[in-house]
Amino acid sequence: MKKFNVAKKIAKSVSDMSGYVPGEQPSDGGWVKLNTNEFPYPPSPRVKRAIVETVGKDGFGLRLYPDPASSTLRAQIAKYFGVPVEFAFAANGSDDALNLAMRAFADGRMSAATIDPSYSLYPVIAKMQGAKLQQIPFGKNMEIPYAKIFKSKANIFFFTNPNAPTGVGYGADVVEKIAKKFKGIVLVDEAYAPFSGFSATSLVQKCPNLLVIGTASKGWGLAGMRIGWAVANPAIIEVLDRVRDSYNLDRLSQVAGVAALADKAYYEKLCAKIVAERGETEKFFDKLGWGYFKSSSNFILFTPKNSAGFSGARIAADLFNYLRGKKILLRYFPKNKIINMSIRLSIGSPEQMKLFRAAALKWSKIK
Ligand code: PMP
Repeated sequence: MKKFNVAKKIAKSVSDMSGYVPGEQPSDGGWVKLNTNEFPYPPSPRVKRAIVETVGKDGFGLRLYPDPASSTLRAQIAKYFGVPVEFAFAANGSDDALNLAMRAFADGRMSAATIDPSYSLYPVIAKMQGAKLQQIPFGKNMEIPYAKIFKSKANIFFFTNPNAPTGVGYGADVVEKIAKKFKGIVLVDEAYAPFSGFSATSLVQKCPNLLVIGTASKGWGLAGMRIGWAVANPAIIEVLDRVRDSYNLDRLSQVAGVAALADKAYYEKLCAKIVAERGETEKFFDKLGWGYFKSSSNFILFTPKNSAGFSGARIAADLFNYLRGKKILLRYFPKNKIINMSIRLSIGSPEQMKLFRAAALKWSKIK
């Protein structure tokens, strides 16, 4: 075979990057899966009905390309958030929307910024784009480092709200202040907004530089379908349309998204259940004397203590592995020094959380 060195052919921006490593998705059954912040309940029954109907009896419905603009889904997104339809954009999961925003608004000359820690995908998509990403540390007690954000020369600022991986949420005053004073695009990544009671989509009509991104993966039980969206001024939406794939959402995702967003009552009830379970979990940590960030999300970042009252990276890793041994899967970030004494726990169903609490309690007594 001809000698060929692929390494020498890789585009410069890609040659020294590594891909994003998502949370584990075990292929065998029997796990209490609390590691990737999925919804613990099935999606609205309307979703399955819409999918079955679209597939048709013999799959005939799948022959044709989908609507390239996902127009019906955009209309439903706009209706859901109470904005004109030109303010809505549909994406293949919110990772797609984040990627498109980085592609559209950052490059070798125009940098991006975010707060550290935030969603660990941002450095990956910045690198891919050959753009610098300034990671501005949070202030004490997760305060927003306003002065540094406003001094940043970045063209786009990624603000995860509620934050991942801490779960801490910020209100309208914070988003509005950033949008008013930051000179570039302010992207608010609202993957976890269904559990916080606040969405910055309410501000897009008065903040022309605000780009709000959301997903059906966390609050609508559709991580398996890949449905995301952007809500922003039409001038921003037009740019996202330039850089997206021509058919970026398949037929089934489009109808599933429409059906899910139309069933508000179903999801409000279940999101409230998750928020209640989050409260129970925080009480459990209070009883154990374990630290955690007060969460506005469907997960909690907590710091376990062993029976002698010590915490730290080794202790967190020990609890993570202990639970893993019992097929209870959480998310641990050993390489991130800011949070490697902590573990992230997705809020599951009451049954799942009961199993987690029993195992964590046992560990706290024997370790
Ligand atoms: N934003 C944040 C903060 C996330 O944690 C995630 C999930 N990993 C996403 C966006 C992406 O979600 P999805 O692509 O499933 O819409």
